[in-house]
Amino acid sequence: MQVGDIVINAMSDGTFIAGPGYFGDGASVDGHDDLFDRHGKAWLPIGCFLIRSGARYVLVDAGMGPTRTPDGDLVGGQLLVGLRAVGIQPSDITDVVCTHMHGDHVGWLFDLECRPIFPHATIWFGAGDWRHFIEGGNPLIQDHIRQGFQEHAGDTRLRPIDEDMSVAPGITAIQTPGHTPGHLCVVVSSDGQRALLLGDAITCPVQLDESTWHSIGDVDPALADRTRQRLWRELEGEDITGAGAHFPELKFGRVLRGSGRRWWT
Ligand SMILES: [Zn+2]
Repeated sequence: MQVGDIVINAMSDGTFIAGPGYFGDGASVDGHDDLFDRHGKAWLPIGCFLIRSGARYVLVDAGMGPTRTPDGDLVGGQLLVGLRAVGIQPSDITDVVCTHMHGDHVGWLFDLECRPIFPHATIWFGAGDWRHFIEGGNPLIQDHIRQGFQEHAGDTRLRPIDEDMSVAPGITAIQTPGHTPGHLCVVVSSDGQRALLLGDAITCPVQLDESTWHSIGDVDPALADRTRQRLWRELEGEDITGAGAHFPELKFGRVLRGSGRRWWT
């Protein structure tokens, strides 16, 4: 993906297997053969995006890490392979932007001894997520990742933000709360073009057709819904394209308006 002078590489750390129940009680496989397989499961990526802007290598989200959930619905471990495939070592990464602190977005930040896996990176995240996951002890983050954040709390390379902020030339983190209190999306802009990296603010393009489908992970469902509606409107622009961390095949697209709205890739 090229946005003006900026290159974005989408890569998946692994697989997120989601049944319709992930989208709420009212969700069903009916009419969605393109998303759910014959066992009623959607095989979604655990997406990360590498953005190259000038001398900066900015990673948006840090995957699940080399682990899995006990139920096997989330299996990580591939991010470093993906980086290596495009010639990048962990030490090359200058910045990591965590859209939020759920375990499938921060898993490669620290090893089991709480040492940073990206030793030269500044780590950006929403201040609200620090309060919710690190201070508040929410269990949906791995213990050693929480501990890694705590051990490095005084380090200037940890950058909690509570307003929209430029992270690197052409790369801005914007506040999009709801899925988590400090959720961030990332806007990449160059030469009149824009790409919107949605994190989990929108889980899947199916939510455009199925407006009542939310995410069972939404901490504040009403606020998450308002944020989703705002982002859909943003994606109606002609100069913009967007992708979320769990969009099928990590394909970018935008909203086309006609008699209704539809997702177009
Ligand atoms: Zn996620």
